[in-house]
Amino acid sequence: MDGNAGTSGTQGGGGRKRALKQQLESLASAGVSDLPKRRGAKPQRAVGSSDASPGRAAKVAHAPAAPAAPPPAADAATRIRSLDVLREEVAACRLCEPLAKARTHTVFGVGPATARLCFLGEAPGADEDASGEPFVGRAGQLLTKIIESCTLSRDEVYILNVLKCRPPDNRRPQPDETANCRGYFEKQLEIIAPEFICCLGTTAAQALLQTDETIGNLRKRWFSWKSSQVICTYHPSYLLRNPPAKRDVWDDMKLLMAKMGVRL
Ligand code: URA
Repeated sequence: MDGNAGTSGTQGGGGRKRALKQQLESLASAGVSDLPKRRGAKPQRAVGSSDASPGRAAKVAHAPAAPAAPPPAADAATRIRSLDVLREEVAACRLCEPLAKARTHTVFGVGPATARLCFLGEAPGADEDASGEPFVGRAGQLLTKIIESCTLSRDEVYILNVLKCRPPDNRRPQPDETANCRGYFEKQLEIIAPEFICCLGTTAAQALLQTDETIGNLRKRWFSWKSSQVICTYHPSYLLRNPPAKRDVWDDMKLLMAKMGVRL
């Protein structure tokens, strides 16, 4: 909470206290009830239940006392156009030259531009590189099952990855690769402005929330990213290697569906 606009400067102790109180009230009304001690430190809690919010935490902590309302979401046609423009940009991207050289397709994302829920994965694998569509291999089939267990269909959610190109041998994305793709996945999520984002696995959770916390720590908590509420769960590939963890993912999906108002 240090160095906040409107809370420091020429005000006396009483004025500062009042301004601070006012700011905390406005942050609480924006869904934030607990701020990190320093920029980028710990994820922050959001109002209600066991909610939290990292990454953007620092931004929120430095928000003015009366935060501006988020811009109204664009209509479906505008979002589709914006996504198409971004898709073209991604298709031409060569920021990670070795990945660009090896790729068959960039894998942008799939789903309605107005989806309420986005699933954010790590990076394309061989099947996704071959087809240009995210989550179509074994992990993807499991993701489809998870979505359907939630009484939703794949067609009504948006699915994207942090990386748009396949890393060699399906290795984890490197920090510079994630940094190169950040502008793309963040823009994509900004355009869709989903109510909910579900991060699948460590890479997605850490990349979106800009935290080093483990997926084990990030599960079962709510975060905020821009106008979206974020939940994290294990990656379907991890479930293929460790089937007992399916139980945990189901618990996470129940939390998510309850918040979305989807009855299971
Ligand atoms: N794993 C991912 O994270 N994304 C895909 O698209 C496929 C597998």
